[in-house]
Amino acid sequence: MEKTLSIIKPDGVKKKIIGSILSRFEISGFEIVNIKLIKLTKDQASSFYEMHKGKPFFENLVDFMTSGPCIPFVVEGVDSIKSVREMMGSTNPDEAASGTIRSDFADSIDSNIIHGSDSKESADREIAFFFEYLGLK
Ligand code: UDP
Ligand code: MG
Repeated sequence: MEKTLSIIKPDGVKKKIIGSILSRFEISGFEIVNIKLIKLTKDQASSFYEMHKGKPFFENLVDFMTSGPCIPFVVEGVDSIKSVREMMGSTNPDEAASGTIRSDFADSIDSNIIHGSDSKESADREIAFFFEYLGLK
């Protein structure tokens, strides 16, 4: 059993596909063990994505992630980190395998519906970020 952090990004909330996205994880046998709706501040979004600071897309990413409420949630299950990444599909929806969340719902690489932790270290840090540091316990 393993936990990972996923986020329905502001475009997913605006498109009213919260239920469709969460359903995919439930149907696939995963448990959603924590969840919150939150509108991030620029400082919070910058801190969450600090590993991308200095990259050309960083400012745009922070603007996008603060453009409306998002939904961080914790997914628990066998091999959940890898499975959630597979269910999301590639960062660029044009390259995402058919049937993945990004292929089915995302408009572009900078508006790509969903986040998923990329490693155990990231998952631990990102779960703590939303559900401990930000006081969302
Ligand atoms: N991103 C972007 N343009 C790019 C690369 C990334 O807007 O050229 C955004 C996109 O929202 C992506 C996030 O930055 O999901 C984090 O990038 P990463 O490479 O970590 O992709 P992910 O792990 O989300 O697939
Ligand atoms: Mg990433």
